[in-house]
This record gives sequence, structure tokens and C-alpha cells, in this order.
Amino acid sequence: MPLIDSYNRTIDYLRVSVTDRCNFRCVYCMPEEGAPVAPRDEILTYEELERLIRIAIELGMTKIRLTGGEPLIRKDILTLVQKIGAIPGLQDLSITTNGYLLSRYASDFAKAGMNRVNVSLDTLHPDRFTRIARRGNLDEVLAGIYAAQEAGLTPVKINCVAMRGWNDDEVVEFAKWTLEQPFDVRFIELMPINWSKGDDSMNSYYALSAPQGYQPNQKIQLYADTDAKSFHSAFRMKDTNLQAGQLDARELRRAFISAQEIRKRIEALLGAMEPAEVVTNGPAQSFRLPGALGTVGFISQITNDMCVNCNRLRLTADGYLRPCLMADGEVDLRSLLRSGASDDEIAERFRVTVYHKPKEHRLEDGQAPVGRNMSQLGG
Ligand code: SAM
Ligand code: SF4
Repeated sequence: MPLIDSYNRTIDYLRVSVTDRCNFRCVYCMPEEGAPVAPRDEILTYEELERLIRIAIELGMTKIRLTGGEPLIRKDILTLVQKIGAIPGLQDLSITTNGYLLSRYASDFAKAGMNRVNVSLDTLHPDRFTRIARRGNLDEVLAGIYAAQEAGLTPVKINCVAMRGWNDDEVVEFAKWTLEQPFDVRFIELMPINWSKGDDSMNSYYALSAPQGYQPNQKIQLYADTDAKSFHSAFRMKDTNLQAGQLDARELRRAFISAQEIRKRIEALLGAMEPAEVVTNGPAQSFRLPGALGTVGFISQITNDMCVNCNRLRLTADGYLRPCLMADGEVDLRSLLRSGASDDEIAERFRVTVYHKPKEHRLEDGQAPVGRNMSQLGG
């Protein structure tokens, strides 16, 4: 019996952040120094992660994606991949990585049952790479991408966050790459994580929505099995994590560029693209240039609301289950795990979280999640 939320969406996809640390410092994601990270004892162990993922799969989840921070910097990450790859019922195991360490892992990941990888890459120019990611280097990331291709972790998806004034003049170059390589290049709209930082006119939305059909005087079952403390407050962390070297609200808004504009720019130079079917492309809308081996996709969660098809939950590295990327509400699984709860009790908390998954984000009303950085949420 799959997990179904209050809006009849099947929730079969869990994105698991395995660390909030990273070896890069992308300007839109992390500050240059003093990145917010949880104390190590708050990070879930591999045994805890394996248990939660097994329970999620028993509840009907079929797709697991590992993310971070940078998942490949977590010690013995291959061991975790092997453990998860062996869980019965899992249909699709993937990872999102910055690619810097991928060439050393790709082949072993494939052997451990991993199906695919997404590699984040925002520029094809070494000097810009240094300006945007501020660590690592382009050659290593490209080596990782080709190693993944070679290992059969396909289709390799390349996630590019397009930003005006930073890399928007490269969108055609990225699209041209798909003429010769079977990559799925996807342009991601810059998301308003922390947009309210430095701009008080934007509010944070704290709560998850009430269930459909809720009457004002009805005793709400929201988190009936949790308590106020286990409903993680965004405000606990508010104002603590925008530090020097991370783009602030105004800079992010200035850099925002819509998927529509990117598509127009590509088509103006390379001709019209045909819609393409990419089975594993989730919310991306995909297209193909005539004769291309790969595809060009757009993840336009800002300008084109994709909530109606949302099928996912997120698990943070410190053990909170988050039903919506754009709403700061989260449910504590770590305390439950560490207090000796049974599998059934944990499963019930998954169900409650799914039941209260918000219908949609409220970005147009000024919603801006501020509780955590994207590096803490996993993207
Ligand atoms: N470190 C890995 C990586 O970069 O692929 C995994 C974690 S990263 C947080 C996951 C994705 O989130 C990356 O593709 C990154 O570009 C994207 N991301 C981070 N901050 C973002 C933002 N403000 N808007 C849009 N995408 C963002
Ligand atoms: Fe690290 Fe990924 Fe964030 Fe870049 S986007 S700083 S690689 S977590």
C-alpha cells in the first residue's frame, strides 16, 4: 500500500541528506567561511539511515536519492551505498553530487546497485568555476561525469543553476554539449532559500498546512503523535546562518533567471527543440535539439508550479523529515530513533508527515524558507 498524501499524491521518493558538510562553497548555497553544520553526534549514523530507509521502503517508497552537503565527502560512503543497495524493494537508487570525487567512486557505486547520478555543474569555464564553487576544480568534475557515464550510471544528469551575470551566457554552450554527449542537462531556477535574509519584507512560513477539509474549530490532528518540541522550529536557526560570502536576498533576486528565458535563448541560436521523454526526469520538462544524443531540461519550480506532481519527502542529515522544500516545517525522527522506538512507531511518523504534506508552496505570497541553507536540505 503506497503512501498517499491528503491531495492524493503518491509519495514514493525519499531524498536523504547524508551530511550537511561540503567541499565546495557555491555562492548561492553556502557562505565562504563558517558554514552552518550540525554537531557530529546529531548526524544520523549509517545504521540509523539504513533503518529509516528500510522503513520508508517497507511503507512503499521505491526511489532513494542520496544528497547533502556533498555526499561523497562522508567517510565510507560506499558502505552506505552498499547497505542501501541491498534493501529489498528498492527500485531506484541515485545520488546528487558536485562530482569532485566522483571519478574514484563511480564504478564501485554501480557495482553496489546504484542506478544513476546527478552532477551539479554551473559553468564550463575553469575561472568561473573558481568564482562560483570557490573550491575544487572543473577538470575533476568533468572527469567524474565521464567516469559515471563509463560506469553506466546513466542517464547522467547535469544540474546547472543558471544565474544572471554569473553563467547565463553559457546556457547555449551547455545545450550544445547534448549534441555530442548523451547527458541530460537540466537548468534549475535559482530557489529562494534564504531570500528573506537581509530583507525583512519577506516572511518565513513556519507551518505545514492543515489537512484538506479542516474546519476552524476542529481539533487538529496535526502532529498529534509528536509534540511542539519535535516539530522543528525554523526560528530556532533563524538569523544564524547567513554569513559573509553567501549571496543575500537582493543578490539572489537580481541573479534569478526564468527557465522560459533560458529556453528562448537556446532556441534563438540552436533552433526549436522537440519535447523529449526522459522517464527518470521527475519534475523537469525535457526537450531535445534536432539530432542530439542528450536532452535539455528545465526545473522551473519558481515560475511554473510543480507541486501538483510532488512525490517526495526529504530526510535531513540530522534526522528531520521534511515534507516540503519550501516550507520550514519538519518532523523529528532522530529523537524517536534514539529513544528506542519500534519500527511501527517510526512508520507512523512517516505516515503523519505524509498526511500533512502541504498542497503547494506559497512563494507568490512571500514565503521564503529561512530555517536552513540548501546544503542542509539536500536540494
Ligand atoms: N553537493 C551536492 C551538489 O551540489 O550536487 C548535493 C547537494 S546540493 C544542495 C543539491 C542541488 O541543490 C545542487 O544541484 C545545487 O546546485 C542546488 N542548489 C543549491 N542551492 C540552490 C538554490 N538556492 N537554488 C537552486 N538550486 C540550488
Ligand atoms: Fe556544496 Fe552542493 Fe551547496 Fe555547492 S550546491 S555548496 S556543492 S552542497
